[in-house]
Amino acid sequence: MIISIASGKGGTGKTTVATNLALSLDSNVQLLDCDVEEPNAHLFLHPDIQEVKTVTTPVPKVDEAKCTLCGKCAEICQFKAIIVIGETVLPFPEMCHSCGGCMEVCPEKAITETGRELGIIEKGHRNGLEFVHGKLRVGEAMSPPLIRKVRSFTRPDMLTIIDAPPGTSCPVIAAMKGADFILMVTEPTPFGLHDLKLAVEAVKILGIPCGLVINRSDMGDDRVRAYAEQENLPVLMEIPFDRRIAEVYSRGELIIEAMPEWKAKFSELYSRIEEIAG
Ligand code: SF4
Ligand code: SF4
Repeated sequence: MIISIASGKGGTGKTTVATNLALSLDSNVQLLDCDVEEPNAHLFLHPDIQEVKTVTTPVPKVDEAKCTLCGKCAEICQFKAIIVIGETVLPFPEMCHSCGGCMEVCPEKAITETGRELGIIEKGHRNGLEFVHGKLRVGEAMSPPLIRKVRSFTRPDMLTIIDAPPGTSCPVIAAMKGADFILMVTEPTPFGLHDLKLAVEAVKILGIPCGLVINRSDMGDDRVRAYAEQENLPVLMEIPFDRRIAEVYSRGELIIEAMPEWKAKFSELYSRIEEIAG
C-alpha cells in the first residue's frame, strides 16, 4: 500500500505525521521524502545514508556544423526552450521539459542529448525503516522529475509512506498520483481551511480515498470539521496543541519516542487508513 501524506498549506505538521507514522509500525515500511525543495524528514529520522546518486534529465545539445537553421525544433517546442535567432540555434536547458520532441523532428540529426543536473537522491536506513529522499539542486525550477525518481524506489513488498510537498500544483500531484490513500494534514485556521479545500479538489480529480489529520486541533475554529463533514472526509486523528510536542519537534525528535503513549495512536491511525483503503 502507498500512503501519500499531503497538506495544501506548508507548516501544518505533515512531516511530523509521516515520520511518526512510519516508525510506529513494525511491518516492512519505507519512507520516501518527496518534498524535494526542502526535505526535512531526515532531521527527525537521522537515517544512516548508504547511497548518494546524482539525477540528471536529458536536454538538447545542437551541433552547429550539421544544423541548417530550418527552425523545426523551435516550432515543435511547447516550452520555448529552443529558439532560432539569426544564424544560431539557442537551447535554454533550464526551461526544457525533456520531451525529446526537438531531437525527433530535426531532419539533420543535429541535436543530441546532454544532461542537466536536477539534484541528488540519498538512500539509507533507520533501524528497519528504509529511507529515500531527493534534494533539488539550488536554482533548479522543475521538481516533478526528481520526485518521480524518488518514487521509483517504491517497493511493492513494503508499505510506502510518501511525504509530499505542500501546495496543489505539479509537484504535489507527482507525489500523490498512484497512491492508495491520501492523508491530508491540516490545521483549524482560515488559511488551513482555504488550502485544504484546494488540495481536496485535486485529490477528487485523482479519485483516491482521502482522510484528515487535524493538527493543533484545539486552536482556531470548527470550520475545518464542518467542511470535513460536508465533504464526507473522515477525521482520522487529532493532535492537540501541546507544548511538550512543540518542544520535541524543536529538538528534532520523534513524538512516539519522546512520548511513547503516541505510538499506539499512530498505529491506530494506520489501522483506520487500512480499513478505508481496503
Ligand atoms: S526536449 Fe522538448 S522541451 Fe526540451 S527543448 Fe526539445 S522540444 Fe523543447
Ligand atoms: S531542427 Fe535541427 S537543423 Fe533545424 S534548426 Fe533545429 S537543430 Fe537546426
